Amino acid sequence: MTTTVAGTAYDRLLNLHQEGSLLGSTAEILSWDQETMMPSGGLEYRSRQMALLARLSHERRTDPRLEELLNEAEAEGHAEDSPEHAQIREIRRDYEMATRLPADLVEEFAKLSSVSQHVWADARKNSDFQAFKPHLEQLVELSRRKADCLGIPEGGERWDALADTYEPGMRASEVAAVFEPLRDRLSNLIKELGASSNGPSNAFNEATIEIDAQSTFVREIATAFGFDFERGRLDRSVHPFCGGSHCNDVRLTTRFQPTEFNDALGSTMHEAGHGLYEQGLPFSMVGLPLGEAISLGIHESQSRMWENQVGRSEAFWKWCAPRAKEKIGAPLAHLSFEDFYGGANIVRPGFIRVEADEATYNLHIMIRFELERAIIGGDLAVADIPGEWNRMYKDYLGLDVPEDRVGCLQDVHWSMGAMGYFPTYTLGNLYCAQFFNTACEQIPGLEDGFSRGEFAPLLDWLRENIHRHGRRYSASELCLKVTGRPLSSDPLVDYLENKLRPLYGI
Ligand code: ZN
Repeated sequence: MTTTVAGTAYDRLLNLHQEGSLLGSTAEILSWDQETMMPSGGLEYRSRQMALLARLSHERRTDPRLEELLNEAEAEGHAEDSPEHAQIREIRRDYEMATRLPADLVEEFAKLSSVSQHVWADARKNSDFQAFKPHLEQLVELSRRKADCLGIPEGGERWDALADTYEPGMRASEVAAVFEPLRDRLSNLIKELGASSNGPSNAFNEATIEIDAQSTFVREIATAFGFDFERGRLDRSVHPFCGGSHCNDVRLTTRFQPTEFNDALGSTMHEAGHGLYEQGLPFSMVGLPLGEAISLGIHESQSRMWENQVGRSEAFWKWCAPRAKEKIGAPLAHLSFEDFYGGANIVRPGFIRVEADEATYNLHIMIRFELERAIIGGDLAVADIPGEWNRMYKDYLGLDVPEDRVGCLQDVHWSMGAMGYFPTYTLGNLYCAQFFNTACEQIPGLEDGFSRGEFAPLLDWLRENIHRHGRRYSASELCLKVTGRPLSSDPLVDYLENKLRPLYGI
């Protein structure tokens, strides 16, 4: 006997899909708690709680009833440009991604990556690539199998299938087409800045400031940007992140060191940018694709915009520098406007990606992209990674990598089997620069407003053009719709050249 359920197949499909999201968002809160509040003694039981939720959530997301309802909803004939059509398309995508990987492969991958992360942590500590090599070889092998199950797009390559889980629809060939011109111009700019003897002063970065004062200040900045503390929080964790369960419960974290005020400020602005995106997703679509972020690259475009285009701009520092001096007092009293603005924009090639400045950061990403594309494609053996890594750091950044600890062993991503993830950081910077150009064209005096603490015009523009759509459009469709052009590397390099050359007296 079958029970009758009210509503169209479309309505029932949304209901069923939302249950999976409810489970997933519950796990998000537990994971936030683990990073911020949980005593270390809670770890063992928490792991069991998380494993159960992951299993239940996977069961919901692969429920065969979804397939039936998808077929029925698709047959209801929703117009191609309707929100319903986009919703069904994206639920179909999620369902297929969840069902394409056989359970034994998922399990094997989870086990291997869990062991590999431990091995990697030790290998990094001892700068011992040989210890990590066999695990990475297995991860590459499993990643290739994963790509084959997910399906290589026509005319594409295995890397595309892996990257698709982070940046839907993005292909290695498209990434390379925007990265190559970016690499050449950026590499030249960095050499030019490095040769200048007129760089900005580092005095701002040398100030020592009490953590309580930093914490109060960064909270005020997040508030000024428009982060809603009635629908969000800001706490502390070892690595800053943006979590939470949905648009009305967004949880940011940041980190503080007495001598790293600029880092706390930059991280908070970055995570607040992620948080503003999350808070801007429509609550009416909670737990559904049209209430979710498009991709990691688009998410990163939002965090980078508040961190860089706003938070490292001359106009922002005209507003922020006097406030910082007033609120924080003595440690900053001796600094000039130039010390703040210049100190926030120092470019210095270094070995470590996560410590990199706004300009050199992208070269770190391009190196990782070229390597992982070659490894997955079978053009580079895992054994040859250190040599290739060091050669590229010399070529692109002019650096001699002294040991693998600060070279190819520095990032956790590959040890987790996350191949195809790195480019999303630079794609974020590229989308960001292109979106910001358009916002400046459409809102007269936008940047000028920052010098008076007026950030609402930018947030309103982002809400209207990006946030409210959820996953209605793909990243490349959105880029075209908002900016009128496909993604290009020019806006980012133009922006960096125009800002940095004068700061370095060029
Ligand atoms: Zn981010």
